[in-house]
Amino acid sequence: MSWLRTELWTAEVVYAGFGTPMLRGALAVQGGFVVGVGSLLELRARFPEAEVVHKGKALFPPPVNAHTHLDLSLLPRYRGPFPGFLHHVVAHRERRGLEGAKKGLEELVASGAGAFADIVFKDEVMDFLLEESPLPGVAFYEVFAPEPSLAEVTFAAVRRKVEAWRRREGRVKVGLSPHAPYSVSPPLLKKLAQWAKAEGIPLMVHGAESLEEVAFLARGEGPLREVYGRFAKTPWTPPGTTPIRHLHALGVLGPTTLLVHGVQVDEEEVGLLAETGTKVVLCPRSNASLEVGEAPLALYAKHGVELALGTDSRGSSPDLDVRQEALFLWEKADPRLLVRALTRGGYRALGLPTPRLTRGTPAALVHSL
Ligand SMILES: [Zn+2]
Repeated sequence: MSWLRTELWTAEVVYAGFGTPMLRGALAVQGGFVVGVGSLLELRARFPEAEVVHKGKALFPPPVNAHTHLDLSLLPRYRGPFPGFLHHVVAHRERRGLEGAKKGLEELVASGAGAFADIVFKDEVMDFLLEESPLPGVAFYEVFAPEPSLAEVTFAAVRRKVEAWRRREGRVKVGLSPHAPYSVSPPLLKKLAQWAKAEGIPLMVHGAESLEEVAFLARGEGPLREVYGRFAKTPWTPPGTTPIRHLHALGVLGPTTLLVHGVQVDEEEVGLLAETGTKVVLCPRSNASLEVGEAPLALYAKHGVELALGTDSRGSSPDLDVRQEALFLWEKADPRLLVRALTRGGYRALGLPTPRLTRGTPAALVHSL
């Protein structure tokens, strides 16, 4: 095979899907296949005739978009303070649904994603993903139910639906997503978490996203009072604590739980997320659009929390290309951490094996940034 031209592909970070992402690493590529993985120095010695090709910031296996709302793909993009986004989604509810999910899935596939985690709001979208998604992933059924007196009846209805969908699982698995600590009543959050854990159903919950969420949980104050009041008649009793501590007290955190956003967290809470094995999905471009601030990457790294990246919906993000999330953070974090979050962190969060770039892998499966 030595007559085939060999190229050494290199980038700032090269990650083969296992081990540690490499600085000054490379992949040897010959005839459309990977034939070697290692440091550039080592591969140059093994393939002295090979041409070195610089491929940009990173080379890695297919990335994972660990947080989408595909059904919101027909919404115009909102930019502005966080509470306005909730009104934006309600105002455009007619454009939410199957058509958006189909368009979103097409965009997701075209972006090169290897797997995804989607929030599903309508039954027809769950049917569609279970039957037609070409990508593996988890479809998390969303529960938005702040009225505490309806906890039992809502739980029973959700359970029936999820049990039926789970019997149809294939490439796409079924998860459960209590929307957020301010939009699901505490008794329902507790019941859903208990049941999901007992059944091995993965959980995804938005949490610690905005300062408005923090104020509403701590003191019952701020613009989320109005949002709550639209959907619940029982007055809100603030738990008087932070979103992460509230979720922990209700048994929501754990190794099969994905916390989305995790922006408003202190070090003790990051420690709690690490201790419980909770995975955190960061959506930095959405956070910027909704002006909620930035997740503390250095704290997450310090405590060894497993991170993944997600675009969030087209309602708060310019596209569904999750690589852009890593690019957005490139100067703000250790790039090796970002490349891991983009790949292995995402696959682990979804309970899937990470594809490896190794001898014999088609070069078409090597993604770049
Ligand atoms: Zn979301």
